[in-house]
Amino acid sequence: MTRTSIPFFSQAKTFEKIWPELRAGVDEIFADGKFSHSRQVGRLEKALAQYTGARHVIGVNSGTDALVLLLQACGLRPGDRVLVPAYSFVATASSVVLAGGRPVFTDIDPDTYAMRPGTIGEEAADGARFVLPVHLFSRMADMAALSAHAAERGLILLEDSAEGIGMRQDGVHAGLHGRGGVLSFFPSKTLGALGDAGAVLTDDDDLAEHVAALRHHGRTGRTLAHFPGISHETVHIGHNSKMDDLQAAVLLAKLAVLDEDIRHRAALARAYDEGLRDTPGITRLPAITGAPDEVFYVYLIETDRRDALVAHLHDEGIGTETYYPRPLHLQPCFRELGHRPGDFPVAEAASRRALALPLYADLTEAEVARVCAVVRAFHTGKVPA
Ligand SMILES: *Cc1c(COP(=O)(O)O)cnc(C)c1O
Repeated sequence: MTRTSIPFFSQAKTFEKIWPELRAGVDEIFADGKFSHSRQVGRLEKALAQYTGARHVIGVNSGTDALVLLLQACGLRPGDRVLVPAYSFVATASSVVLAGGRPVFTDIDPDTYAMRPGTIGEEAADGARFVLPVHLFSRMADMAALSAHAAERGLILLEDSAEGIGMRQDGVHAGLHGRGGVLSFFPSKTLGALGDAGAVLTDDDDLAEHVAALRHHGRTGRTLAHFPGISHETVHIGHNSKMDDLQAAVLLAKLAVLDEDIRHRAALARAYDEGLRDTPGITRLPAITGAPDEVFYVYLIETDRRDALVAHLHDEGIGTETYYPRPLHLQPCFRELGHRPGDFPVAEAASRRALALPLYADLTEAEVARVCAVVRAFHTGKVPA
């Protein structure tokens, strides 16, 4: 019996679907002769502003740089404390350090995997100037409660909404509940490029202008090549964090099928839910709300025997990822903050137990059924028929 393998991620089929539109964009780039920070980037920013409802979208070269630029443009001063969850991708906290600040780790909510709103009232939050909640996998942090607490304490609220494209709470897109947020277009994200790219989202005109300057060596004025009156005045010490037009063309073509992809991912998540429900040893399945706009970036389960299951799935040709195998407060790069195992028990438990199963636009329900059969058989000791 031969079994085809199921990779953790693939977008080959999606690219077949969008190829004509992508080809047109690439032709335009060559006709223009401008490959960075030019017409396709401007177009993408407009399209994303429309999609998210943001007043401003500033295209940059990665989600990580989007965070650094956002923090700096919000006036982060050297040593400023920024509340971040202890369970996230490392860039949530490393961006704070790169921007000159100091991350203050907090434990997560066991239901959403996000920062608990109560965190802001706790002792650890004393002296913090910023709060940076993260929206992970398929759930947003409780932004109404976080906004209320942040306002009460005078904290500046930002969002690491790198995983949040398409996610909305109370009708407001992720990244727009505070001063600003970010998007990542790393290839495996819900809206992924063919390399690195990212964006800052904000409704604040001055903040948008500042971020736009910081991404381009600190130059002010309308610096996109398709705008007249290019300014070369350099007011800030900036970065080179511009977006490539090739990535923008890819993202524009994929944005046209994004809602379709999101619906397909939600259908696959429901198929996983049906296939895995009540499996002994699986201690957590993602909540399915059934809302028509539910977004699954990652389908993450928790199991008692995570590492053995990863090895077994690998032997069966099924790709997995462990998001995130080490909580941030125990990463060597944050050693000087002085944390120890046991400081944030919810984050630590999730790091030991969590496992992401394949979920992407190219994946079929038949493939999900096979993954479920293998995962169930592993936990029940029965080999699938
Ligand atoms: C992907 C991601 C980032 C970083 O984005 P890049 O585009 O890879 O730099 C930051 N935070 C979170 C939560 C992410 O998932």
